[in-house]
Amino acid sequence: MKLDRKIYNFSPGPAMLPESVLRRAQSELLNWKGLGVSVMEISDLTRFFQEFLKDLRAKIRKILSVPENYQILFLTGGATGQFSSIPLNLLGKNPRADYLVTGWFSKIAMQEATKYGKIHCVTNERPGQITPKEEWKLSTDAAYLFYCPNESAQGLAFPDIPESGSIPIVADMTSYIFSSSIDVSRFGLIFASAQKQIGQTGVSLVIVRDDLLDQACPITPLVWNYNTQAKENSCVNTMPTYATYIMDLMMDWILEQGGVEVLEKKNRRKSKKLYDFIDQSNFYVNPVQDTYRSFINVPFFSPTKELNEKFIEEADREGLKFLKGFLDLGGMRASLYNAMPESGVDALIAFMEDFMHRNRSSSKI
Ligand SMILES: *Cc1c(COP(=O)(O)O)cnc(C)c1O
Repeated sequence: MKLDRKIYNFSPGPAMLPESVLRRAQSELLNWKGLGVSVMEISDLTRFFQEFLKDLRAKIRKILSVPENYQILFLTGGATGQFSSIPLNLLGKNPRADYLVTGWFSKIAMQEATKYGKIHCVTNERPGQITPKEEWKLSTDAAYLFYCPNESAQGLAFPDIPESGSIPIVADMTSYIFSSSIDVSRFGLIFASAQKQIGQTGVSLVIVRDDLLDQACPITPLVWNYNTQAKENSCVNTMPTYATYIMDLMMDWILEQGGVEVLEKKNRRKSKKLYDFIDQSNFYVNPVQDTYRSFINVPFFSPTKELNEKFIEEADREGLKFLKGFLDLGGMRASLYNAMPESGVDALIAFMEDFMHRNRSSSKI
């Protein structure tokens, strides 16, 4: 089926996937690797699937330049599952951890961790703000420092990796991973659920340094024990095969695009266009301070609540889908993940301009 009009999907997640990835999944659905069966119909323990996993790990290692002393795991439970897995796996020897709370997700992560350890909030605990680092109260004896480089709800991002001395950094990269190049060796653990940048729900990618694998609390559930999963190729129980297969298609797509450096340039250009338009519009506002603006999730507001609602409705009719802002934050939010082409941003800006001209007088500004 061909749609008679281009649709752009700005959903925060599950988010859009490249059309070529969806088409490839469709074409391979009934016959995976010439086996005559679907990838979702075979055991994860077959040599076919085990080889597939080995190749996928190699692709991820290549794209992100993951050093040899890091394990690459495919786990279930989403990013939120990791909010529990992380303290369970890392606080077995030392119960203390530091959290940077900057938005919705880091706040939930900290609340979850307090069930398992002695958790210290380094920042002021108010979501939607990044406390200047001069004011952080870092511990000297924490097992790890947790932060979220890109807070997808608030559209808030760290301009650089926090300095933590010898304390391992744990990062929730759910909306950020593969959007730009990262120096993996600066982190103790990186995790991301797949449905924003690398596929669909059901699988989370966890990249963890070897020396952090021996400090799990004894109560850590078997399926979430990093050490056990590392030893068992992420197949302690039946692993999320189809979601992992889609992640592999995304890795091929990223390689075709030229890798993360190329994607980063595109992503920065897309978001800059949108911010520049918002800032000069004298109609739309993005509330985030310049230094902390996300190049992935861009929230914006028109002058009134009524106009925001009208905007979302009319944009949807124009094929600009799922622009509603995060829960009670309201307004609009455009999520510009890797898969969003620049033409989507151009179409959005054209609509924003038209909407502004039609509604400026009614907005009393
Ligand atoms: C979406 C998101 C989450 C939640 O992911 P789930 O897979 O639904 O648990 C956590 N952190 C960040 C940064 C996100 O963008």
